[in-house]
Amino acid sequence: MQTNSAAFLESVDHNFRHAMSFLELPEGLAERIIQCNSTYTVRFGVRLRGRMYSFVGWRSVHSEHWEPVKGGIRYASNADAEEVEALAALMTLKCSLVDVPFGGSKGALKIDPREWTPQELERITRRFTQELNKRGLIGPGVNVPAPDIGTGEREMAWMVDEYRRANPTEVINSRACVTGKPLSKGGIAGRTEATGRGVQFAIQSFLRDTRTPGLNGRRDLTGASVTVQGFGNVGYHAAKLLSEDDGARVTVVVERDGYVANPEGLSIEALKQHQTRTGSILGFEGATSFAGDMSGMEQSCDVLIPAAMENAIHAENAECIKAHLVVEAANGPVYFEADKMLRSRGVTILPDLYVNAGGVVVSYFEWVKNLTHIPFGLRERRRRERRNHTIATALERMTGKEFPADMRDEFLEGGAEIDLVRSGLEDVMRSTWTPCRPDGTATGTR
Ligand code: GLU
Repeated sequence: MQTNSAAFLESVDHNFRHAMSFLELPEGLAERIIQCNSTYTVRFGVRLRGRMYSFVGWRSVHSEHWEPVKGGIRYASNADAEEVEALAALMTLKCSLVDVPFGGSKGALKIDPREWTPQELERITRRFTQELNKRGLIGPGVNVPAPDIGTGEREMAWMVDEYRRANPTEVINSRACVTGKPLSKGGIAGRTEATGRGVQFAIQSFLRDTRTPGLNGRRDLTGASVTVQGFGNVGYHAAKLLSEDDGARVTVVVERDGYVANPEGLSIEALKQHQTRTGSILGFEGATSFAGDMSGMEQSCDVLIPAAMENAIHAENAECIKAHLVVEAANGPVYFEADKMLRSRGVTILPDLYVNAGGVVVSYFEWVKNLTHIPFGLRERRRRERRNHTIATALERMTGKEFPADMRDEFLEGGAEIDLVRSGLEDVMRSTWTPCRPDGTATGTR
């Protein structure tokens, strides 16, 4: 029987070939583009708990048509080389779709992070970084990892630190060797929320575009019911932003041990606090818990957001999906056969290459910030504030009325890093959705 990662690789390959069939490429070119250039397997030992433990990891470079190559590093006990290759291919396609200047790469370490203490994880991560460094698989101009499932700011901080130790003569640009770092280590405001915020912008772009069916003809999310599968970084931020900013009701949240539901809409922040405190979403007092029940995604809803792993929606459960709109926040969450089945039933699917690109877009901003050595907005912020102040004063003099107090602060503010990052991300997501002017000519690239 085919493994999950083999099915994932097959699914990526199938979707790619389908897309290529719309282009007239010279013979053999599509084949060249989709093949993964190299996959490096690393095995290393770390002495922990009084004995030697062996670990295996991978870093796959899919395409070096742009360098550095870019993509996250995942810590998962079911990781394997095929999964990493499929994810690396998605990175190449994703970066090219949103026009950020990176080739695609991806990495994984076969490990369940919950089985190790933070001190142990730090030693394992540092050792893994040394191995990547030895092979030229990490560095600001060659290969720039980032967080993925099971990793976050903390792991990126360890990696940048280890890279800087190993390359003491390259210190000037060395912080750009990974993205998704904490602010204190050269990170950028808004990177952690970026993928979830990108999901929000993707849905907004879809609803705004009158060429699409919208949500059964509706053009906003007010009161719409949303199911989120996976309550990690991406699922949590998408759920939070859609409920707080767009008025959606997140009625179901699904995790690996079951799901929680509340038809009135869940309080996302309270649910996150419960999960952080107890290690599970189950038992949350603001919802009904369905422990061990794997049918969460099959509950009725307007929008389904799979935000966990690949192949979450497959040929066996696709018929049971009742959503009108499926938003692929994870990488490859809809297997290609399931994709066909859903579409034949009139379900709209927003694809992962676009939907979850927010993470790598803000990684790009972070990398640029590290290389330019200047925070976003530093040179313009005060000038903008002065100009806005002049406009507000002029309006007050001309009208004889005071500027509305509730708008004053927002209007005067010259743009902190977080505002500029969000605005840049929104621009990329919106311009990627509408790459053509009304007359059909391209709007040009960044
Ligand atoms: N792991 C994220 C992704 O799959 C982010 C990659 C990056 O920022 O390089 O897109």
